[in-house]
Amino acid sequence: MSDSKKKKAPNIDIFRAWCKACGICVAFCPAGVLARDEGGYPYVKEPDKCISCGWCEMRCPDFAITVYNKDKKRNFENDYPEERQGK
Ligand code: SF4
Ligand code: SF4
Repeated sequence: MSDSKKKKAPNIDIFRAWCKACGICVAFCPAGVLARDEGGYPYVKEPDKCISCGWCEMRCPDFAITVYNKDKKRNFENDYPEERQGK
């Protein structure tokens, strides 16, 4: 596989100040990317497994998790830019 075809791991940003450790993002991640620490807060355990589906971002009730995909494949931000901009 050439370098250009290699899957780049998305950048998953968890804004802890807004996170209430509900665990929804961890529960809904279909790829087992996220896990919870001792305090119940999510962290990125397996970044290479992320498929950029955006479920964690869509399901977070506090907008505390964002998935940035450098390949611009599917994620909530790319699929629904109007919603992200509040239009
Ligand atoms: S984008 Fe999808 S695969 Fe990646 S961490 Fe979120 S729910 Fe899991
Ligand atoms: S869904 Fe949001 S508030 Fe709940 S644990 Fe995940 S990042 Fe935190």
